Amino acid sequence: MTAIYEILRRQIEAEGPITIAEYMSTALIHPDHGYYNLKDPFGISGDFITAPEISQMFGELIGLWCGTVWQQIGAPKNFCFAELGPGRGTMMGDALRALQIMPAFLDAAEIHLVEPSSNLRSIQKRTLRNHTIAAWHNGLETLPDGPCIVVGNEFLDTLPIRQIVRKKNMWHERLIDIIDDKLHFTLDHAPSPLERLLPAHASNAVENTLIEISPASLGIAKTIAEQITCFSGAALFIDYGYSNDVPQETLQATQHHHSIDILEKPGEVDLTAHVDFNAFAKAAMPADVHGPLEQGLFLTRLGINIRRNRLKNSSTEAKGREIDSAWRRLTKPEEMGSLFKVIALTQAGTPVPAGFEAQSSIPTHQK
Ligand code: SAH
Repeated sequence: MTAIYEILRRQIEAEGPITIAEYMSTALIHPDHGYYNLKDPFGISGDFITAPEISQMFGELIGLWCGTVWQQIGAPKNFCFAELGPGRGTMMGDALRALQIMPAFLDAAEIHLVEPSSNLRSIQKRTLRNHTIAAWHNGLETLPDGPCIVVGNEFLDTLPIRQIVRKKNMWHERLIDIIDDKLHFTLDHAPSPLERLLPAHASNAVENTLIEISPASLGIAKTIAEQITCFSGAALFIDYGYSNDVPQETLQATQHHHSIDILEKPGEVDLTAHVDFNAFAKAAMPADVHGPLEQGLFLTRLGINIRRNRLKNSSTEAKGREIDSAWRRLTKPEEMGSLFKVIALTQAGTPVPAGFEAQSSIPTHQK
């Protein structure tokens, strides 16, 4: 049994069943035993690999996107450049290197990182040792007021979700209990007040329909939209998720690149859920919302093919093959190209940001 299991057992025995959001939060970011505090989960030897870890091209293009958006919002002399959930700090490092071509951006940017894990904070400190980091934060609440450009890759999918299930025309929250010294799912007897957060079509749902809601990511959409509306700025999130066909359960546990039982090893495995981009976009009003757009198309529009060719021109043949393979992974639909989506928020009335021109939302749900 894991240390997190013991913490959860004591909590459930004292206070009764817990929500899935409480389970996720404790398992992922408990200050002593949480998953992100215990290990470096990225890469081949870890549990999963993310786009910035696949290739420098990803962070470089995101950096240049931030540079052009900064110009579009009037090049504020001082602004908060924030990354949410920076992992190893790779994307920020690659972005800042690419942004050397825009020294005025670098002079104006005050870098803030939202990262609750002390273990990952020290890795980020190392990766970004050549840059001044204004502050690390546990959440968005402490980010400074003022114009901001906010980015997050595979951040929204890590935020806690709650699940509710339709039973006899009512919605009940799915909880986690202990039975015979094992974690089990159960349903709250009382109807759930979360029902008011459901989209209108949910009222036609059939018996046993399960819907996931992420109050945490909706709160983040709202906070950023308000800050952008008040002070100007933009935000860009890249993640996997759905926008129209709402799937059933998407919560999953991953270890060594494989899915495992969600309740089996809390604190030792990654827990994620697909992002509901429609709900996110709705919560982000009154900002302008762009996308979601497929990652492959977005990176292509930002010029990943040109960047790939430049990098290959200055590489050995073997390195060139690696660059091609990373490019395929990031852009091809059968790899990360369409599973991952990009969504941007801008202050209402500012020009459409790079990559989103002449684009309509993608209607399909892709796992
Ligand atoms: N963006 C990085 C890492 C993605 S993993 C990459 O693409 O490689 C998720 C990141 O979000 C980690 O840095 C993790 O510590 C952080 N994180 C997890 N839960 C969080 C929470 N509730 N609030 C803020 N950050 C969180």
